[in-house]
Amino acid sequence: MPITTGGSTLLPFLLLIIVPLLLGLWAQFRVRSTFGAAQRVPASSGLSGAEVAREIMRAHGITNVGVEVSHGMLSDHYDPRAKMLRLSKEVYSGRSVAALGIAAHEAGHALQDAQHYGPLKLRSGIVPLAMVGSHVSNIALLMGVLLWGMLGSTLGPTLLLVGIAGLCLVALFQLITLPVEYDASRRAKDLLVSTGLVSQGREAQAMGAVLNAAALTYVAALVATLGTILYYALILFGRRD
Ligand SMILES: [Zn+2]
Repeated sequence: MPITTGGSTLLPFLLLIIVPLLLGLWAQFRVRSTFGAAQRVPASSGLSGAEVAREIMRAHGITNVGVEVSHGMLSDHYDPRAKMLRLSKEVYSGRSVAALGIAAHEAGHALQDAQHYGPLKLRSGIVPLAMVGSHVSNIALLMGVLLWGMLGSTLGPTLLLVGIAGLCLVALFQLITLPVEYDASRRAKDLLVSTGLVSQGREAQAMGAVLNAAALTYVAALVATLGTILYYALILFGRRD
């Protein structure tokens, strides 16, 4: 949030909050546009996203994971606790390289889970901490900034420090998410191209564009959190005597 302490905080606010925000919006726009383009490229295999996900898991001996439709556009995810692969309607029944790429990516997460892939386990373990960190930081930063004057010079900075610590947990979670997502997409590309479900050339290229764009949104989320941490650190240490 912008703080009215004069012109000196405007530049950090623009650089550390607004620029990452725009990067995130651009990344989301890229996902939608590359997904839209890849939706117009039918995969030569003719299978649907759900069929491909089931096929990949069956080929790897995974029999305890279900595949079902989830609601909302691009709401696709793998739920390791429920052992459930949830695919959005467009992906579940879609037969484009966009649908197959996303379905295979989510199946890649199921493979990671079955193979006890380290970063995925680490990420699952950090989820509760990151959620607490996110809630605590929201409240602590808001209170810290709004009530700085009223709370006095000790409690205000302490709240900001607590908020920054909470954000660090969120950043840690987002950092561990990067190899997990990159690995799932790498598996998806390898599996689909090596089995011929997606053919090399235009099909593989359109699918790769979607998966790369999706990966960028995770980078953008981390950059936004790091920017926010720096911004509040500047406020905290810049105003402390
Ligand atoms: Zn993923």
